[in-house]
Amino acid sequence: MVILGLGSNLGDRATQLKRAISRLSRGRGAVLHATRVSRIYESAALMPSGAPATWDLPFLNCAVSGDTSLDPRALLRRIQEIEKSLGRPGHERWAPRPIDIDILWWEGNEVRSDDLTIPHPEILNRPFVLEPLCDLIPNAVLDGETIEIHARRPAAHGLPRAMHSPEADFKVMYPTLMGILNVTPDSFSDGGRFLERDAAVAHARRLVEEGAGIIDLGAESTRPDGTPVDPHTEWARLEPVLHDLRELREELRTPRGGEPFRVSLDSRNPSTVRSALRVGVEILNDVTGFSHPEMIEIAGETEVPLVFMHSLSIPVVKGESLPPDRDPVDELMGWAGERLLEFDRRGIARNRLIFDPGIGFGKTVRQNWHLLEHVERFHDLGISLLVGHSRKSFLEAVTDRPSAERDAETLEVSRGLATKGIDILRVHDVKGHHALFRRQYENPLAGQDMTRHAEKA
Ligand code: ADP
Ligand code: MG
Repeated sequence: MVILGLGSNLGDRATQLKRAISRLSRGRGAVLHATRVSRIYESAALMPSGAPATWDLPFLNCAVSGDTSLDPRALLRRIQEIEKSLGRPGHERWAPRPIDIDILWWEGNEVRSDDLTIPHPEILNRPFVLEPLCDLIPNAVLDGETIEIHARRPAAHGLPRAMHSPEADFKVMYPTLMGILNVTPDSFSDGGRFLERDAAVAHARRLVEEGAGIIDLGAESTRPDGTPVDPHTEWARLEPVLHDLRELREELRTPRGGEPFRVSLDSRNPSTVRSALRVGVEILNDVTGFSHPEMIEIAGETEVPLVFMHSLSIPVVKGESLPPDRDPVDELMGWAGERLLEFDRRGIARNRLIFDPGIGFGKTVRQNWHLLEHVERFHDLGISLLVGHSRKSFLEAVTDRPSAERDAETLEVSRGLATKGIDILRVHDVKGHHALFRRQYENPLAGQDMTRHAEKA
């Protein structure tokens, strides 16, 4: 068994940790098996004397244990690849970093060389390493004492304490909730309810209060028989709401400057997306997977995360679906792989990309269920995953309720998606999802405790 130490003090720290854990333990590139994750700790940065004040950003740290078939040097190379893929530019010591991964401890293995020392030489000096290590191997002996005894010893003078952060724990363990905000007259489940500006923004506020980390704003219904909107009408619906969402973000910003929520724009029209980027959005979500030449061009000009969804036709054409004789996961893996190559050609970094299999977009009921059942295979893509299954018609296989009343069925599917490491769930019922995950977090016996028994690769 090997234990890695993870730290982040730049950008969305909990999300970086979550991504690193995913890359280490899920999909084709996984190097850890039977993974366990410590609690998440927060501490002030260690600052060398003379360091610029801008480096003084608090860290989140955790430790991850698992079995590996790699040798120490091969594991070091792989964790450095993962650091790079998550946007760590170089290795300036002490500088803020989106992710740092160190090899802390290796059962029955000691290494002493210029480029690698195991156990990591600083373990005993760093509360932010000792505390998470104590969650995983309290009884392991280092320098003649157990980790637990080392961890209980008052920290050497002046060292920043590492405090368990339940908030970060929760963020790392459960999917981010993307709340749906439709300003359309005809969306399948809530069409017409939020067309009016004030109602739309009030709904966004409610979703954020209920636990949404992202608001997905759209003005075109893509449902079967939905009417495509012309970009002019689309922008006329979006613009006022987008402005109000900017204001809401400012209003809800925490004193420490944390992001209260991010705005995602659900649009496939280049002119709309360009206009929206001028007002400000944090994520682009394209149900056509950025296959329009202008859309991918825009994607290449921005820095924001991109959700690329698989679909066959927009609006959805009833009866049109993936070939019946092929495995739909294989089919979508092939499609997503091609899209990744296209993003590569445009110089778009993989850590900006989020794949959405597009439940309900050109799949039979059976294919939709199959995709959800095997969705963890998409971790082979090595990027973040989003699933939007909320209230959709494939659920008719298990309920006869109308779409607006399918929240219980939606939740049941979401419960499984969370254990499969899906990063983002796009849902109508944010409140119900948040409550479900809080219950699981606060009462590990009621659900699976993902931190302590997580993710077999
Ligand atoms: P730090 O993690 O101390 O801030 P960096 O990650 O910038 O430093 O530096 C990592 C360097 O430390 C690597 O180039 C690696 O060769 C070396 N190193 C030595 N021992 C270890 C270890 N146990 N785990 C990770 N890196 C190590
Ligand atoms: Mg390091």
